[in-house]
Amino acid sequence: MSAILKLDVTGQPRGWLTINEAVLAYSRSDVLYGIGYPLPPILGGIQRISGIRSRIDLQPIIALEGRVFGEFIPRLCNKTLFRRDDHRCIYCGGKFIKSDLTRDHVLPISRGGRDRWENVVAACKRCNFHKGNRTPEEAKMPLLAIPFIPNSFEWHFLTKERVLGDQMDYLSTQFKAKRDWAM
Ligand SMILES: [Zn+2]
Repeated sequence: MSAILKLDVTGQPRGWLTINEAVLAYSRSDVLYGIGYPLPPILGGIQRISGIRSRIDLQPIIALEGRVFGEFIPRLCNKTLFRRDDHRCIYCGGKFIKSDLTRDHVLPISRGGRDRWENVVAACKRCNFHKGNRTPEEAKMPLLAIPFIPNSFEWHFLTKERVLGDQMDYLSTQFKAKRDWAM
């Protein structure tokens, strides 16, 4: 099922909507503008007075009316983290499936490291176990890539398994990362 990319008035991505949520936004006249080639039309009921069937041509990206709430803070979860790191262990460089990867804290939590994008990387179980409670320097396990906090364009791409062409075109204009998926 497709999802609709929601933008705020400034054009920043602010979430994914289900088709139903997007239809609701249209019916409330909350949609400022849409971007992209329309999806197959959604037909509603026939209006009693006019006899006309309501029809919504949903676009894959819609900007909604409303206040802008501060800076975007991307939620951290393993699925998104592993996608950020191309499903590679950041220590040995091997490619792994999700269930064989772990979230490693570069500076371990027990040593004051934070559970934040800038301090976490994907690591295979073997490397994570071997590194243990040490920093990469202490363990002589240099990072193959620097952990970073995704911007809202990157994060919205990383959270979604299937992104429509128009959505990808929009999101990728602001990709800053030096990773395979951002090239
Ligand atoms: Zn590894």
